[in-house]
Amino acid sequence: MFENLAPLSGDPLLTLIGLYRDDRRSNKIDLGVGVYRDEHGRTPVMRAVKAAEQRLVEDQQSKSYVGPEGDGAFVEGFADLILGSRRLYAGIQTPGGTAALYLAARLLATNCNRRIWVGTPTWPNHLAVFADVGLEVRTYEYFDPSAQSLCFDKLVEALKAAETGDAVLLHGCCHNPSGADLSLEQWREVAELLANRGLIPLIDVAYLGFGNSLKEDGTGFRTVLDAVPALVAASCSKSFGLYRDRTGALFVTCNAETNSTVLSHFVTYARSIYSMPPAHGAEVVSTILNDVGLRADWQAELAEASARVRSLRALLAEGFKAWKRSSALTEQKGMFSLLPLTRQEVLALRCQAAIYLPENGRINIAGLSMDKVDAVIEAINPLFG
Ligand code: PMP
Repeated sequence: MFENLAPLSGDPLLTLIGLYRDDRRSNKIDLGVGVYRDEHGRTPVMRAVKAAEQRLVEDQQSKSYVGPEGDGAFVEGFADLILGSRRLYAGIQTPGGTAALYLAARLLATNCNRRIWVGTPTWPNHLAVFADVGLEVRTYEYFDPSAQSLCFDKLVEALKAAETGDAVLLHGCCHNPSGADLSLEQWREVAELLANRGLIPLIDVAYLGFGNSLKEDGTGFRTVLDAVPALVAASCSKSFGLYRDRTGALFVTCNAETNSTVLSHFVTYARSIYSMPPAHGAEVVSTILNDVGLRADWQAELAEASARVRSLRALLAEGFKAWKRSSALTEQKGMFSLLPLTRQEVLALRCQAAIYLPENGRINIAGLSMDKVDAVIEAINPLFG
């Protein structure tokens, strides 16, 4: 029956994980994987998550269905965290940020102009999700790796070229893969353009707290929420370390009536795709957010993680002496930066120095530990010469 099917190659990042796992060299370094790692190379269960899980084991009374909208307490608490308080919204819990993007993309693919503007490079799965629902994608250059600068003029040009009713994908903070976020001033300009031109922002918030702080990381994209109705796809994978528990949400911020209509569409899509989201991660998050002590401990641990990444950024910037633009690493936010390396150089690093990164040159700075920084600098610095 399926003899004529051609095999698909899958996500190159997942292939890279397999190659790294199978490498026998003891000095191997993984800068490819897209998760936070601590100084010991572990992706820890956060302290507050463990404590909340213990409570849930004791207190949970039922494993009955949660319903396609998910856990109301989670949606409310997470909306406060992501959107900021006092905002009209409707929200649905989703299996991770990916499913939130998927539901949003499906709405956009069947309504309005069925078109979205995407800055490149971007997280490759954005393009996969948009293609899957048949959303037309228009790209523009967002980031120039050799100059290490954001091409703000290209973004503005794209917003001016877009037609009323077009959607625009924006990374809320800690841009993946470049780490180059808009300044507050630029967010304001974008917000004004979106409003004036009647565009629909789809804001992807996957790394809140990994840049400077929970508060500062939200300031920029919230200027858009103040200016124009938006869709916000948010993930708990990184900020709560809940990757495999598939926890996220999709919010819409229009007026009350439109919000509830849009929500009814999300609920209908969800029902036929995955029916209902998993409950566990959402219960963990709402337990943390609603408990003063757990919330404070979670924030402290997240702040430690982002501080670790910032200090590694400083060491790399200092060490890459042959690279004129190395100081950009300290201005960029979150776990990722995009080094101006060719595919051949990336493959040579893998082969000769056992340093793993994807072919586009993205490095996950959290994949480093202090004792490996020198080896990475030694291997990569000459490539900038
Ligand atoms: N958006 C971006 C930019 C991401 O990098 C990720 C995770 N790599 C996601 C969304 C989705 O994350 P998840 O589905 O694991 O919550």
